[in-house]
Amino acid sequence: MDIDNIECVSSSDGIEDDEIHHHHHPVNQRHLYPLKTHNKNIIIGSVPGIAPATSVHELLECPVCTNSMYPPIHQCPNGHTLCSTCKTRVHNRCPTCRQELGDIRCLALEKVAESLELPCKYYTLGCPDIFPYYSKLKHEAVCNFRPYSCPYAGSECAVNGDIPFLVSHLRDDHKVDMHSGCTFNHRYVKSNPREVENATWMLTVFHCFGQYFCLHFEAFQLGMAPVYMAFLRFMGDEADARNYSYSLEVGGNGRKLTWEGTPRSIRDSHRKVRDSHDGLIIQRNMALFFSGGDRKELKLRVTGRIWKEQQNSDAGVCIPNLCS
Ligand SMILES: [Zn+2]
Ligand SMILES: [Zn+2]
Ligand SMILES: [Zn+2]
Ligand SMILES: [Zn+2]
Repeated sequence: MDIDNIECVSSSDGIEDDEIHHHHHPVNQRHLYPLKTHNKNIIIGSVPGIAPATSVHELLECPVCTNSMYPPIHQCPNGHTLCSTCKTRVHNRCPTCRQELGDIRCLALEKVAESLELPCKYYTLGCPDIFPYYSKLKHEAVCNFRPYSCPYAGSECAVNGDIPFLVSHLRDDHKVDMHSGCTFNHRYVKSNPREVENATWMLTVFHCFGQYFCLHFEAFQLGMAPVYMAFLRFMGDEADARNYSYSLEVGGNGRKLTWEGTPRSIRDSHRKVRDSHDGLIIQRNMALFFSGGDRKELKLRVTGRIWKEQQNSDAGVCIPNLCS
């Protein structure tokens, strides 16, 4: 890490940020100002032409890692501030002036932070809430407006966004199969089922009840045993996911396995759901038995259904004409 070039406050970046906010988000600009006027005392010495709020933001931004600083905020004898995480990393030397850091807390800045109220960082995505500085981070970790991560499991895809955006992303960039309707009948065929290590997997998206659901099917090693697993994830929040149920069925040769469950939200990562075994798990021997033939090829037919849970006493009953 090259920390020699870092200054405590980077004013040119600040100007750019401020202009961006000004032109593109004029409505939210007012939220960026601290709501309590006495804070202005702290920032009188700032560079002319920069909005006060920007300066306060910059003061509270760790000059080393650029994250927002939370108590304890440290400073060197010359007044350069840094966050507690960075303090443990810089071996007691101020990254700006190389002075020994000691154990000085910047109480003034901690006080400034305490009096600030700021909008949730997802305000452009629709979150209307404003928070005291120190509880903002907590909220943002669980904010309902925070973007979703791409649910595609085949690679580490870094794309995130809202549900309509992710649906087009899955269709256009991952070429995922899209289906309408609340029932499905899928055949998974694999010519060399012994190769579980390559994590065979598939994703299909279903559109019903005005919502999107991801059906995952994959092979993995469960302890020593190779298994196949199918499960459904809901493209939305966990609270909404609970309004739906689904069933999966797989079989052959007069036997069948069924699974009934609640789809997991895509807030839970694909791996997390898989590792919690929250879905239909088929041992490979059983899967090959279901496949029929000479057991050399995997040919699984997975049927399933998604339904909406009723809010009234009919909970769990599927009303067929609700299915689009
Ligand atoms: Zn830092
Ligand atoms: Zn210093
Ligand atoms: Zn929020
Ligand atoms: Zn993606």
